[in-house]
Amino acid sequence: MTDMPRRWPHGILGAIGRGLRGKCPACGEGRLFRAYLKVADNCPACGEELHHHRADDFPAYLVIIITGHILVPIVLAVETEIVPPIWLSVTLWPTLAFATALALLQPVKGAVVAVQWFGGLHGFEAARNARQAAAR
Ligand SMILES: [Zn+2]
Repeated sequence: MTDMPRRWPHGILGAIGRGLRGKCPACGEGRLFRAYLKVADNCPACGEELHHHRADDFPAYLVIIITGHILVPIVLAVETEIVPPIWLSVTLWPTLAFATALALLQPVKGAVVAVQWFGGLHGFEAARNARQAAAR
């Protein structure tokens, strides 16, 4: 933890952007994750407590919705217009769905944690109060 002045996010969209990039929603510098989907207990840069999050299964639900909205139109278009061989369909679409979900899970979880942090949910009240006090 350093004594650097906090660079608070510009509104909830700023916090979400930091979460999407895997950065601490409070300072935008430290890493939000200590492993692929494990949120760090504290920000290594500013010391912000991040263990209060309760993302649970919500990021996975969002990733399923996003992946479906991306892939289903593509699958329908390709399968009706091009009609690829069945071996290609049964290997390509599950692989693409799996890769898309893996690519989206961490950014989406980061965004969910950032929203919880910004809203002061699940023990983030002190962080919200400190941010609001600094804005006055
Ligand atoms: Zn931080």
